Amino acid sequence: MTDMTLIPATATALPAPFHARHLIGGRTCDSADGAVTDRLSPAHGTLVSRAAKGGTAEVDAAVAAARAALAGWAATTGKARAAILLKVADLIEINATQMALLECLETGKPISQARGEVTGSADLWRYAAALARTHKGDSHNSLGADMLAVVLKEPRGVVSIITPWNFPIWILSQKLPFALAAGCTCVIKPSELTPSTTAMLGDLLMQAGLPEGVANIVLGEGQPVGARMVSHPDVDMVTFTGSSAVGRAIAAEAGKSLKKVALELGGKNPQVIFPDADLDSAADAVTFGMVFNAGECCNSGSRIIVHADIAEAFTARVVALSGQVAFGDPLHPDTQVGAIVTPEHAARIDGFVHAAKAAGARVTLGGGPLSIPGLGGQFYAPTVLTGVTADMAIAREEVFGPVLSVLTFRTLDEAIALANDAAYGLSAGVWSENVHTCLSFARRVQAGTIWTNTWMDGFPEVTFGGMKQSGLGREIGSYGLEEFLEVKSVAMRVGRTRAPWVKTV
Ligand code: NAD
Repeated sequence: MTDMTLIPATATALPAPFHARHLIGGRTCDSADGAVTDRLSPAHGTLVSRAAKGGTAEVDAAVAAARAALAGWAATTGKARAAILLKVADLIEINATQMALLECLETGKPISQARGEVTGSADLWRYAAALARTHKGDSHNSLGADMLAVVLKEPRGVVSIITPWNFPIWILSQKLPFALAAGCTCVIKPSELTPSTTAMLGDLLMQAGLPEGVANIVLGEGQPVGARMVSHPDVDMVTFTGSSAVGRAIAAEAGKSLKKVALELGGKNPQVIFPDADLDSAADAVTFGMVFNAGECCNSGSRIIVHADIAEAFTARVVALSGQVAFGDPLHPDTQVGAIVTPEHAARIDGFVHAAKAAGARVTLGGGPLSIPGLGGQFYAPTVLTGVTADMAIAREEVFGPVLSVLTFRTLDEAIALANDAAYGLSAGVWSENVHTCLSFARRVQAGTIWTNTWMDGFPEVTFGGMKQSGLGREIGSYGLEEFLEVKSVAMRVGRTRAPWVKTV
C-alpha cells in the first residue's frame, strides 16, 4: 500500500460569489428572462459564481453586434490591433490574483497552477500581438514581364469560439487573440461550468479599448447557446475545443452551411519508454502526465508503452513518485492536484477503472475516490493499471482522470504500432538516449505533437493540434493565426500586352 501525500482543507476565506454576465455590443447584461447558472466549488461545495444563462436571443444579438463591428475592425491597422492586445496582456497580469482564484474555485485545480495559467495566457496575447503586425501574404514576381500576382490574407469574418472547462482562460487565449490579430470579430461561449474568467476577460477587453461588438460573450449551455453559435447563418467560422463527440456534431452542423471549422478534441496520448532512457526523468514525466490537472487534460499521458524488460521496475518508480504528489485543497499553495470537476465526471472515471478491472487489468495503485481531510468534494486517487492490453477500453478511450494504463513492447516497430493503435492523434512521447530511436518515433507516430525526452512542453511560437479524431486545424504559432485568415489571389497584368482571345475578323 503506497502512502499518499494529502493536503487537508485550508482555513482560507472564500470570496463572495462572482456575478458573470454576457458581453454583447460592448455592454454587459443579464439574460432577458433572468435565468442564471450557479457554480459550486468542486473541492469545497460552496457557491463560487452565479452566471447569466443565455439562449438563442442572446446569441443572435451577439452575432449581429459582431457582424456590425467586422468592417471597422478588419480595417484597423495591425499596429492598432497589437496595441490593444498588449494592453489586454497587461490587464490580465494586473488581475491575475482574482482570475486565478476564480479559475481555481470553478475548476478545482490548484491555485499555483491556476496562477501559472493566467499569467501564461498573457504571454499568448503578447505573441498574437506580434503576429498582428508581422503577418503578411505572398508576392509572385517571376510570372513573366507582364504579370505580377499577390496573395492577400483577409480576416475570415465572424468567428464563434466555444471552449471547455479544463483550462478556461488558457484555451480561450489560444484562440481569441489570434482571431482578433487576424481582424476577425467574435462570439465566445465558455463552458457553463467555468464562466467567470471569460466574463472577467470581457471587462478587460473593454478596459483595453477594444471597440464595441468586436468580442462578444454569451454564457450558457451547449444547447441552445453553443448550437446556435454553430448554425447561425451570419457566422463564418467556428473554433471549438472540447470532446470529440461534440466536435463531430459541430462539424456536421457546420457542414450544412459549409462554415470553416477548427476543432481541438480529445487524446489518448502514449509515452514510449526504452530501456536506455534516463528513467528517473521518464518516471517523473510519466507521473506528471498522469496526474497533472487531475488527468483532466487533452494532453494527459494516459497510457505508457514500456519495454517489457523494465516494465515492472519502471512502474514501481511511477507508483512511488505518485505517492509523493500533493493531492488536496486547491487553495493551498503546495497542492499539486485538486478536485475532479463534477461528481458525475468522478463517477465516470471510476466506471472506466471498474471496467478495466473486470476486463483483466490489475490495479497497482489507487483505483478509487480519495478522501481529503476536511473536504467533501470529489477527489480521485492516482491510479496505475498494469496488465492492460490494447483491446481494453481503458487503453483506447479518453478517461480524463488521473489514471495510467501500462502496456509493454519488445521492438521499436511494436512500440510504434501500439502508439498508433488509437482513434486519437493529439500528442505522443518517446524516452530514449538514442537519437535514431527518437527520430524514427517522431517521424512514424501519428500525432500533432511529439515530445522526445520531455512531456507537455508548450510555447506560443510552436503550433498545436491533433491528427485523426483529435481534431482539425492548428492553434497558436503562426499556423494558429492562419486559421483565422482567408486567402485571396490577385493577378495583375502590367502594361497593355494581353493578346486578344477572340479572333476578330
Ligand atoms: P464538451 O465537448 O462537453 O464541451 C465543450 C464546450 O462545448 C462547452 O462550452 C459546452 O457547453 C459546448 N457544447 C456542448 N454541446 C454543444 C453543442 N451541441 N454545440 C455547441 N457547443 C456545445 O467538453 P468538456 O467536457 O467541456 O471538455 C472536455 C473535453 O475537451 C475532453 O474531451 C478534452 O480532451 C477536450 N479538450 C481538448 C483540448 C485540445 O486542445 N485538443 C484541450 C482541452 C480539452
